[in-house]
Amino acid sequence: PHMRIDVVSIFPSYFDGLTLSLLGRARETGLLDLKVHDLREWTHDRHRTVDDTPYGGGAGMVMKPEPWGDALDQLAVSSEGQPTIIFPSPAGEVFTQATARELATREHLIFGCGRYEGIDERVFEYAASLGEVRLISLGDYVLNGGEVAVMAMTEAIGRLIPGVVGNPESLVEESHEDGLLEYPSYTKPSVWRDRAVPPILLSGNHGAIADWRHEQQLKRTRARRPDLLA
Ligand code: SAM
Repeated sequence: PHMRIDVVSIFPSYFDGLTLSLLGRARETGLLDLKVHDLREWTHDRHRTVDDTPYGGGAGMVMKPEPWGDALDQLAVSSEGQPTIIFPSPAGEVFTQATARELATREHLIFGCGRYEGIDERVFEYAASLGEVRLISLGDYVLNGGEVAVMAMTEAIGRLIPGVVGNPESLVEESHEDGLLEYPSYTKPSVWRDRAVPPILLSGNHGAIADWRHEQQLKRTRARRPDLLA
């Protein structure tokens, strides 16, 4: 198992954090081939321009289609199959654990990070001639650019690549994997600042512990995220 991810951004150094921890190690061991590209590599003018004023008027600037077209051509041509091309967008489908699971099965992902008011709409249409195109939102709020969204998605997807997380069981027990929030966790000491760990966890009765944890999951989900039960 091995996944290729190309990220295109005008701020490549945002992604320096992805050299750390589990994804950093996955890159070193070859499980994840993650490359970050500067969109300005695909500009041809002296000022390396990536944006221009919007047709029809309105506030802000729009990312020009030409550098995006050249970037996508180059990255898609070097793909062994057809890449999945993802544009983070507050106007896209909302990213969930199910989306992460689905995208973790792909061999090659290309992420295009928007800035300003976003990217010229024709880029999304053109990209569909090169591969599967997905517009994906991190949630119902607006960020300044796609970088933070792409980091979040890369981390959620990357940890599902077999071998990236040491113990695969820790993936199964997590929040959202079974449609419920995770149960509360405790470690030593058994009493801390007058607060005791729930005695059942010290009982050694694995069946009772499993039942208690499931109950806690339901209780939490009901209280914090009733929408998940509906
Ligand atoms: N004018 C756009 C709109 O209203 O849909 C918002 C543009 S936003 C300021 C600039 C870029 O940030 C977007 O092109 C996208 O890449 C990214 N972005 C902003 N909010 C996001 C979200 N909730 N999820 C994913 N990407 C987001």
